[in-house]
Amino acid sequence: MSMAEEKTVLICMRVTHPGYRVSGSLRVQCADCGELVSVSPSGWLILQDSPGAEIVCVECSLKRMLAEPGEIKPPSPAQLDEIGEYLRQKGSAA
Ligand SMILES: [Zn+2]
Repeated sequence: MSMAEEKTVLICMRVTHPGYRVSGSLRVQCADCGELVSVSPSGWLILQDSPGAEIVCVECSLKRMLAEPGEIKPPSPAQLDEIGEYLRQKGSAA
């Protein structure tokens, strides 16, 4: 009954990464390197839907994908909303 091991990995930006920020993000350690990453509210929704999901920074996720290619999911609607909100704020601030 078990399907092939399918691990959900939430890819997050390190907090040291300049630029993109979503208000309400929380800081969590990358499962691989231990660097702090920011998990936005949409990320928390994904974690709620996927118990046992791992949180990994962009750099480590690329290493994982090179070692073991997996399915890459498109951004969730909530993630797209956050990106749109960010762009609107940037646009109105300019
Ligand atoms: Zn990492």
